[in-house]
Amino acid sequence: MARADVMVLGAGIVGTSIALHLAKRGLAVALVDRGGVGEGTSYGNTGIIEGNTIFPQVFPSSWKTLLRVALKRAPEANYHLSFLPQVAPWLAAFRAASSPERLAETATLMRPLFARAIPEHEALVGEAGAERYVRRNGWLKLYRRDRSFAGQARELELAAKLGIANVPLDAEAARALEPSLSPVFRHAVHWTGAMSVSNPLALTRAYAARFAALGGVTINADARTLRRASPHWRVDSAAGPIDANDAVIALGPWAPDLLAPLGIKLPFAVKRGYHRHFRPSGNAALSRPILDTDTGYCLAPMEQGIRLTTGAEFAARDASPTPVQFDRLMPAARELFPLGEPLEPKPWLGARPCLPDSRPIIARVPRQRGLWLAGGHGHWGLTLGPATGRLIAEMMTGATPFCDPKPYDAERFMQ
Ligand SMILES: Cc1cc2nc3c(=O)[nH]c(=O)nc-3n(C[C@H](O)[C@H](O)[C@H](O)COP(=O)(O)OP(=O)(O)OC[C@H]3O[C@@H](n4cnc5c(N)ncnc54)[C@H](O)[C@@H]3O)c2cc1C
Repeated sequence: MARADVMVLGAGIVGTSIALHLAKRGLAVALVDRGGVGEGTSYGNTGIIEGNTIFPQVFPSSWKTLLRVALKRAPEANYHLSFLPQVAPWLAAFRAASSPERLAETATLMRPLFARAIPEHEALVGEAGAERYVRRNGWLKLYRRDRSFAGQARELELAAKLGIANVPLDAEAARALEPSLSPVFRHAVHWTGAMSVSNPLALTRAYAARFAALGGVTINADARTLRRASPHWRVDSAAGPIDANDAVIALGPWAPDLLAPLGIKLPFAVKRGYHRHFRPSGNAALSRPILDTDTGYCLAPMEQGIRLTTGAEFAARDASPTPVQFDRLMPAARELFPLGEPLEPKPWLGARPCLPDSRPIIARVPRQRGLWLAGGHGHWGLTLGPATGRLIAEMMTGATPFCDPKPYDAERFMQ
């Protein structure tokens, strides 16, 4: 039987970063996954480490947008009709959290985590020798309409107050940075401080290799076998049981698979998202990720090709893929950038693990001694993985946490 101080369940960017932070503090750590490191949601994201984020994604406030979504004409969102009754309470809570006052509150409560996103990645990138995957040239948000650019005024004002670097550009100046973009947009904001990666899977694997170099062990096992074997937590693997004093659930969208049998009900939902790689036509190239704000998709240069990622799809996590958003957005994407042939036969599907107030849970699980939870990072799991790893490792080892962890506790949903 293997014994560890801590077992971290889930080897996505969040679990791997936690395991690495714990190993750096001298703990014996087992990182458990039923698949390969980084092959879950963390495989397929847009690769933006966006320490610049101020406001979360919001529930649409305009009836026009809602109607477009309802009629399944919106490129940025899709839903399965049969899933709506199930997700309705979550959507109501998400909508309530999208009021201007609640958004301002979220921005304040999330800032300490976002402020640490880049420095914490920089530290791990350095230690893991993962430089080759990292770009430090920011990312670009494009606006086709004057009105949508004007809608960013509050965000830019807050960014100025908080000292978050950005440069508003006209189309010509943006095209000086990215000459392959067509001038179909009128404005852009260059968030200059953000990082991005050319291969999110390789980055997570590099962090896992660093964890292994520090003596950490990665084990193939099904985390759903987790149970208490007093006084420890136990998981079964093919090589026998693994026991640990503490267990951290970092299963991304699969966290409820473990929480529900333990009687822990938390309002997790998923915003599914797709990606597909395209060959750029001719000599076209991108040097950083781009968000086409008015259409609602991203283009990111990856080792595999230009990765096009979609917005949110509200559907059951395990329902069959329905990549209909591609049909709605491809004309706009091809108009903006000369995309050639797709490089895979079918799009990849992932599921962003989300909580309705757009804050993750990074906390001890109430009433379960030695059990911790880190999940619900939504649109920002890549960004916040290492900062989450540091925070929870500090909490677990009794060190002073770098920020107040209260906004990320689980009890806010357990009154
Ligand atoms: C299209 C798209 C674009 C995105 N773009 C960005 C971006 O640009 N920037 C950003 O910061 N974030 C982005 N995100 C969000 C980000 O990818 C996620 O928040 C993040 O990957 C979640 O990481 P995680 O470690 O919590 O989950 P995961 O990466 O899903 O890891 C969970 C792990 O648990 C394992 N697991 C599940 N069940 C079991 C079990 N029973 N037993 C053992 N192991 C199990 C899985 O195999 C998996 O490896 C994007 C997401 C999508 C879908």
